Amino acid sequence: MPPTSVTSILIVDDDPNNFDVIEALLDAQGYQLHYASTGEAAIAALDLLEPDLVLLDVMMPGLDGFEVCRQIKSSPTWATLPVIMVTALSEKQDLARCFSAGANDFISKPINRLELIARVRSMLLLREQYRQLETFNAQLEAKVLERTAQLQAIISQDALTQLPSRAALIETLAELLQTEGSAFAVIYLDCDQFKLINGSFGYALSNQLLQAIAKRLQRLVPSDGLLACLGGNEFCILLRQTSDIEQVKLLVGAILDSFQAPFTASGLDIFITACLGIVLGHSGYPCPEQLLQDAGVAMYRAKQQGTGSYQFFDPQMHQTMVDRLALENDLKRALDRQEFVVYYQPIVHLKTLKIVGLEALVRWQHPHRGLVAPGEFIPLMETTGLVVPVGLLILKQACQQLHRWQQQGWSELTMSVNLSVRQFACPTLLEDIDQILAATGINPARLKLEITESAIMENAETAIALVEALRSRQIQISIDDFGTGYSSLGYLHRFLVNDLKIDRSFISQIQVLTSKYKVVDTIITLGQQLGLTVTAEGIETEPQLARLQQLNCELGQGYLFSKPLPAADIEARFLQSKDSSLVLLA
Ligand code: C2E
Ligand code: MG
Ligand code: MG
Repeated sequence: MPPTSVTSILIVDDDPNNFDVIEALLDAQGYQLHYASTGEAAIAALDLLEPDLVLLDVMMPGLDGFEVCRQIKSSPTWATLPVIMVTALSEKQDLARCFSAGANDFISKPINRLELIARVRSMLLLREQYRQLETFNAQLEAKVLERTAQLQAIISQDALTQLPSRAALIETLAELLQTEGSAFAVIYLDCDQFKLINGSFGYALSNQLLQAIAKRLQRLVPSDGLLACLGGNEFCILLRQTSDIEQVKLLVGAILDSFQAPFTASGLDIFITACLGIVLGHSGYPCPEQLLQDAGVAMYRAKQQGTGSYQFFDPQMHQTMVDRLALENDLKRALDRQEFVVYYQPIVHLKTLKIVGLEALVRWQHPHRGLVAPGEFIPLMETTGLVVPVGLLILKQACQQLHRWQQQGWSELTMSVNLSVRQFACPTLLEDIDQILAATGINPARLKLEITESAIMENAETAIALVEALRSRQIQISIDDFGTGYSSLGYLHRFLVNDLKIDRSFISQIQVLTSKYKVVDTIITLGQQLGLTVTAEGIETEPQLARLQQLNCELGQGYLFSKPLPAADIEARFLQSKDSSLVLLA
């Protein structure tokens, strides 16, 4: 292969005549030949001459050919430089020494021209291949570096808002935690009901909205602070050198204020609120992730308080979260383990003091905690949706119990069963109720379903249709906790309900002449005017009973008559014989 650029060959030999011989033999090959008369001179000349090949005599005074070869091959710069040993030695042992010193080839003296030319060419080809490989490696390395930098940028920046990402924030927090005596604040921001916006307006608008929020927040963050986007609709603000809680509160106030004005996205003005969770960080914190987790817990707590609120982290919050999770897990198992039981509380006709019905109230027979009241677990079951299957179970058990009592001759008794908001919104509710009616064979006219005002107001039109469908099956409907929820007065005449239950909080105030006292009066009058039965909840004292009787309140329930009891106790105390159905006052 003819050389394309000038190829340089270093010839090392203590006898200059040998150089002349080689020069003559390689004449007309177009190589640039250099000469070194000692091994030391050859090593010293490498960097200057940058040869493509070395022809190296073996036997030389000073550094001999083996040693020179070894030094070339152990140098990082010259390790790939091909070396041909030129030797008069011909013993196999000597050749083996050449190769063990790192030589790539050898040529015997006296040198044959054709052999020399062939070996030189083949070594130069090897050199060229090494070069190509080196270039390729260098390019590859540059590419890897470039891609690594790109990935680093992707990881440390949020693609949508161009703000530092969670990873970048964690890195900054880690540095802060390593700074002795550091004190700072981390503010975790989550937009309220963002899913609703996503669902109603689509992702394109939501993305624009997030960008607008990022821009507005950026203006509020001090120059030495940091605004990061944690992904989704969550942002985090880092305030450095902050031990002053008032300073944090100022910023928190400014952030919440900034959400008062609408954000513009896709030409629309959108109002949105956000909740903030704040943690005051210091160098004693275990890790950045813990800081974010605590700020997140505080944010979650703020959400529970309502939209547009904030909370500072307090270690107790952790415990509450842990307890809540444990309760949630226990609840999931409770259904399978049949730990839910039904208690019954008598509903009494206030004039005759006879039991006219019972309200079924769920209890949780917890394996360690004993009997747990519904107030502790119904709200959680509402959010997890577990209230639907559990509610059906209670409905079924209550209907079975009513059937038993009807068979024992108590055919006039009604059974009241609570329906949660979630159950009321469940699309299979009617189907499920029909199945239970068919399976238990009760008279539907003796079943009373208690719903709350919020269940009705959540979707009034559907609720009207549902109530009508239930009424067409003869099932009665009560409005539970009447007076505490949204006022459904405007709707009341459109609902074919049978019964209003006055909330306990009004009854307990009955003896005190407050405005609540008037409420009881008003509800009873309203019920009478609309032709509805009114039931008073939570009657605890004789004067309360007397007053309700005076107001012509028809029905009542409360501890004065009986606490909720298991079915067997109800039978033993109240259902022995028709004559003894008069409620025994405590
Ligand atoms: P609610 O439907 O308004 O039930 C009346 C609550 O008042 C019951 O509490 C009852 O034990 C209590 N109570 C009755 N008389 C008195 C009294 O004189 N004094 C006092 N201090 N309290 C009295 P409970 O059983 O703890 O139930 C609380 C709430 O849990 C119920 O309020 C109802 O909203 C819900 N709940 C109970 N069982 C079920 C159920 O099976 N399904 C659904 N969805 N909710 C249920
Ligand atoms: Mg009730
Ligand atoms: Mg109630």
